[in-house]
Amino acid sequence: MFVKGLKCRECGKEYPDSPLYVCDYCFGPLEVNYDYDMIKQNISVEKIRSRQPNMWRYREFLPIKGEIKIGKDVGFTPLVKADNLAKALGVKEIYIKNDAVNFPTLSFKDRVVSVAIAKAREFGFKIVACASTGNLANAVAALAASSGYESFVFIPANLEIGKVLGTLIYNTNLIKIEGSYDKVNRLCTEIAGKHNWGFVNINLRPYYAEGSKSLTFEMLEQLGFKTPDNIVVPMAGGSLITKVGKAIEEFEYVGLIEKKHTRIFGAQATGCNPITSTVKEKREFIKPVKTPDTIAKSLAIGNPADGYYAADLMKNTGGYGEDATDEEIIEGMKLLARTEGIFTETAGGVTIAVAKKLIKNGNINKNETTVLAITGNGLKTLEALHGKLKEPDVISPNLEEFEKILSKIREKKNKKN
Ligand SMILES: *Cc1c(COP(=O)(O)O)cnc(C)c1O
Ligand SMILES: [Zn+2]
Repeated sequence: MFVKGLKCRECGKEYPDSPLYVCDYCFGPLEVNYDYDMIKQNISVEKIRSRQPNMWRYREFLPIKGEIKIGKDVGFTPLVKADNLAKALGVKEIYIKNDAVNFPTLSFKDRVVSVAIAKAREFGFKIVACASTGNLANAVAALAASSGYESFVFIPANLEIGKVLGTLIYNTNLIKIEGSYDKVNRLCTEIAGKHNWGFVNINLRPYYAEGSKSLTFEMLEQLGFKTPDNIVVPMAGGSLITKVGKAIEEFEYVGLIEKKHTRIFGAQATGCNPITSTVKEKREFIKPVKTPDTIAKSLAIGNPADGYYAADLMKNTGGYGEDATDEEIIEGMKLLARTEGIFTETAGGVTIAVAKKLIKNGNINKNETTVLAITGNGLKTLEALHGKLKEPDVISPNLEEFEKILSKIREKKNKKN
C-alpha cells in the first residue's frame, strides 16, 4: 500500500491513515495522500493488463492494505462505443461508461462501498452504516451482507420502491427518515458522533471517495490509456466528479497516460442544481437547495459536501455545469434506450439530457471524443416511467386479431416516415 495518510484539502495538515474526515485545524475535508513517486516505480501498463478485470487492477492507487476480500468482483464495466447515440446527437464520437451493469447492485456505488467497508475492517468497526439517496443503500446492504457485517442504512422516506426493496432484501436495518436527504445526513452525522460505527460516507468518506477513481481508471484503460476530450458526470454530493479529475492527474503523474487537456462537465437535475447553478452564475460559494424536487432522487442532495470543489474543477478544466428538467430526463432515458439498448435510471437520463444541451450550445465540440458516465440502472426507478411510454396493444390469442394490429402498426409507421 502506498498511502502516506490523510491530508487536509485546504491547509495541507497531515493525519494518519484513520477514520477522520475533517481537519481539526481549519475544518477542511481530508483526502487520502499517496507516495506517488513510489507508485510510479511500481506500476506499468503491462502490470495492470495482466490482472483480473475488476476495480482492484489499479490497487496501487487505492487505500487498501493486504489481500482484497470485500467486493472482489466490482468494476470493469463496459465502455460502449455509442455510434447510434453519437449520430442522433450529431457528434463524431461518444462512449458510454456503463455502470448500470456494475456488480453487485447495478450502480457506481459498489465501487465506493467496497473500499469503505474494507477500511471499516482495517479500522476494526463492527457495524457499517450510511446516509443514502438510494443506490448507496443498495450497495452498503449488499456488500455488508456478503462480507458478514451488520449494517444500518438511513434514507429519505420518499425513495423509489426498487431502491427500498433492493435494500431490504439483504436483511439490513433500514430506517426511513421523514425529510430530505440533507436531514438524513445531518442526523447520521449526530449518530456517527455517538456510536462507534463506520459510516461509509461520513467518517470513512475520504476512503469511500477514493473508490470512485476506479471508474475513470477503467475508462482511460479502455480508451487505450488515453484521455477523451470531454467527460460528462452526474453529480449528487460532487464526490465522483472531483475524483474523475484526481484519477486523470494520477495516471498522468505516474506516466500511464500522456498529458492532454480534458474538459470535465457536471450534470444535475434542474429541481436540485446547487452545483450547476454555482458554475452558471460564476459564484464562489454553493447556495444550498432547501427543498429538492426532481425525479432524479439519487442526485437530490441540496447541500453537496464536495460541491465547491466540483464547481472549481469544471471551471479549471474548461468544462461547464448544466441541468435538466424532469421532462428532459425522461427523454434522455428514452434516447439512450432506443439508440444503444441501455436502460439507465433517472440519473443517467440527467447525463444524457445534459450532454445533448452541451452539444447543442457548443460547450462540447462536435468533432471531439466525449465519454458519458452512466451510473445507475433503470430497473430501480421504474415509477419515473409510469404513463411516459406508449401502452402495449392487447389482443385475444388469435392470428386474425394480430394481423389487424400489425397493419395498424405499419400504417402508423408509414405516416411518420
Ligand atoms: C451517488 C450517485 C452519483 C454521484 O454521486 P456523488 O455524490 O456526486 O459522488 C451519480 N449517479 C448515481 C446514480 C448515484 O447514485
Ligand atoms: Zn486544514
